[in-house]
Amino acid sequence: MSSSGIVALSATTDTKLDDRLRVRLNAAYVHAIESAGLVPLIVPPLASAADARRVLAAVDGLVLTGGEDLSPATYGAQPHPELGTVNESRDATELALARAARELRLPTLAICRGVQLLNVALGGTLVQDLPSERPGPIAHESGAARDARTHEIDVEDSSRLAALLGATRLRTNSFHHQALDRVADSLRIVARAPDGVIEGVEGTTPSWWLVGVQWHPEDLTETPEAWDRRLFDGFAEAVMGGASSIER
Ligand code: MN
Repeated sequence: MSSSGIVALSATTDTKLDDRLRVRLNAAYVHAIESAGLVPLIVPPLASAADARRVLAAVDGLVLTGGEDLSPATYGAQPHPELGTVNESRDATELALARAARELRLPTLAICRGVQLLNVALGGTLVQDLPSERPGPIAHESGAARDARTHEIDVEDSSRLAALLGATRLRTNSFHHQALDRVADSLRIVARAPDGVIEGVEGTTPSWWLVGVQWHPEDLTETPEAWDRRLFDGFAEAVMGGASSIER
């Protein structure tokens, strides 16, 4: 079966520009996806999360993008005082997208909030606020430029992520105050920051290409280092591979 190369990118809604509720996605995702030879299709929070399955029937891959904190109600926790803005309709849509992607074995790349969402969709939980719950020397909410590589990560040797990046030690940007806590059974931790914070996971579900990263590779595709371009290229290969990607 041939692939359309069209991938769904989840987006958010907010009123940051003015008082009107608008659909929004950072254009860096669009650029990174197009640079890898794929076609981005932006999916807003849907009125009916059940429509997620219909969306995914029309595409060949899914990118779960960055953004707000998940509502802790999605993993059965009480809100921490430092919890940021939440968007319940986005939560519901993306949880449905993630679960439908698993059913359809659709290649999935999860970024920042996306990897947190993915972990929750598959049964895991989150650290709601790293500075207060896991204090340490690394500022994961760096405040630096989007393309500034501010901390190291170590990637497991034998992992798909290491093969994709072409490295087991690299530097990444970092714009998160939350992180994965208890990791879902069907995910494997494959990258950590030096302080132990989880920075990368991949799926163990047979025939499902699933990679999640806590950093923002879409903001790093124009840097001299090839790691993040390679990550999107590998995702594109899985998307374009269609049925033959099953054995990867
Ligand atoms: Mn980080």
